[in-house]
Amino acid sequence: MSAEVRALGSYVQAYLICPRQVWLMSRQICPDEDNVYLELGRLIGAQAYGRERKEVRLEHLSIDLVRRGDRDFVVGEVKKSSRAREAARMQLAFYLYELREMGIEAEGELLFPEERRRERLILDDSLARQVEELKVRVLALIYRDQPPPPEKIQFCGKCAYAEFCWA
Ligand code: SF4
Repeated sequence: MSAEVRALGSYVQAYLICPRQVWLMSRQICPDEDNVYLELGRLIGAQAYGRERKEVRLEHLSIDLVRRGDRDFVVGEVKKSSRAREAARMQLAFYLYELREMGIEAEGELLFPEERRRERLILDDSLARQVEELKVRVLALIYRDQPPPPEKIQFCGKCAYAEFCWA
């Protein structure tokens, strides 16, 4: 493993759903690109919030949406459903934390266009500490020689690695 490996937003989100998925992603083991749920996620991401959508890549961050707020920037994370809401919330908190480390203060919005829901997220001290702990756990996992064994969870059915884990 390279020494400069970093936690990414997608790793933080996946870690809270299935740590094995993070290990596979970190090794560039490609998921099934034809997976219908991956395709659905891309379509929703591309169509929702068309006018304000600006996918922004900043160093290791890939942010769905950025706009000017009243005082600061607002960064949005678009998800197709709130089924893994807590994981999505921590992914967004991670982006806010990393932006703060770069000297950019922003607040977050978690967006579930299919459910017409929008949740505001502010990075307070407690949330920042949770992000720090999560980053340490994600990096420790990535540095393991072997992935955690597969465990059947409710997300396996829609996971693009399902064939890899269960074939
Ligand atoms: S199929 Fe299940 S065990 Fe395998 S990576 Fe996906 S969620 Fe994890």
